Amino acid sequence: MPSDDSKPILLIIDDSEDVHRLLRARLRSEPVELVSTMCGKDGLEKARAARPAVVLLDLDMPVMHGFAVLRELKNDNSLTNVPVIVLSGVDQAHDKVTAFELGATDYVTKPFDFAELRARVRASLRMSQLLRLLETRAEVDGLTELGNRAAFNRRWEQEVKEQHRYGRPLTVAMMDADHFKKVNDTYGHPAGDEVLATIAKIVRNTCRSSDVVCRYGGEEFVIIMPHTGPTDAEAVCQRIREAVEATVWPRHPDHKVTISIGLAGTEAGLTETTGAQWLEAADKALYTAKKSGRNRVVVSRFETRGPDLALAS
Ligand code: GH3
Ligand code: MG
Ligand code: MG
Repeated sequence: MPSDDSKPILLIIDDSEDVHRLLRARLRSEPVELVSTMCGKDGLEKARAARPAVVLLDLDMPVMHGFAVLRELKNDNSLTNVPVIVLSGVDQAHDKVTAFELGATDYVTKPFDFAELRARVRASLRMSQLLRLLETRAEVDGLTELGNRAAFNRRWEQEVKEQHRYGRPLTVAMMDADHFKKVNDTYGHPAGDEVLATIAKIVRNTCRSSDVVCRYGGEEFVIIMPHTGPTDAEAVCQRIREAVEATVWPRHPDHKVTISIGLAGTEAGLTETTGAQWLEAADKALYTAKKSGRNRVVVSRFETRGPDLALAS
């Protein structure tokens, strides 16, 4: 995915070199990076790799027809919101209806009027920008500014898939504030909110930037630690636990807050553990941490045994 300060990508999928040449010349001054391909299959690969802001898609192409490309784009969760402008030599209502029904945003007939095409591209870029903003906002927790449960679910699915494919180390940590109800009950809800926002900052500042920190719900947080085995993850979690314990709270300096953490992870090796089983193991470890006195870190290690896993501790 392009970084925030890079230009949005306009992907052009058309089997005519003339069209590419013309579009390049006419769209040169637009604030977009043009990526071109003459084949639908390659277009799909490029779209998956670069996540374009807008796609210009020809219909009449050999090997893979534009409608087939459009169908695949719209069936891909990560690309479904990318606006697609269909470019067609056919000005027939039937084709237009099909394009819109498949999820196209716009339909332009060749030969183009370039001023009109440019205006339509700009409109689609604005829509794309707005949709991305909404996607991002929908995954942010308002109090802590961490990713929310939806953000976690999306990233977790990706990380588990990666782990299954490459057998790299992976650890997930579930953490829960201890006796947090008491903070709310004694010092009020705003004091509780402040504690949660500060814990979020401590966790974020203690983890690596490649770790994914989310608010799982209420006073529970979760960290996905890609490429990290449980031994290293435990060290990080101990630092988080100690930092929270050492915090002096402006609203209640005499009342310490502690957290309990449950980890589930594997050092390396292929696993078939599902994401849900993995979370269940972390949750069990957290439960053990609570039962055994709170303010502690408990670790579940997955050892690989062929394609299967055994929970070692
Ligand atoms: P334990 O050590 O067993 O986890 O005890 P606990 O009191 O932390 O657990 P419990 O689940 O009984 O209470 C969680 C509390 O967290 C209750 C709920 O009101 C509070 N809480 C959840 N979300 C928020 C929030 O956004 N802000 C504030 N201030 N409190 C919240
Ligand atoms: Mg709690
Ligand atoms: Mg809780």
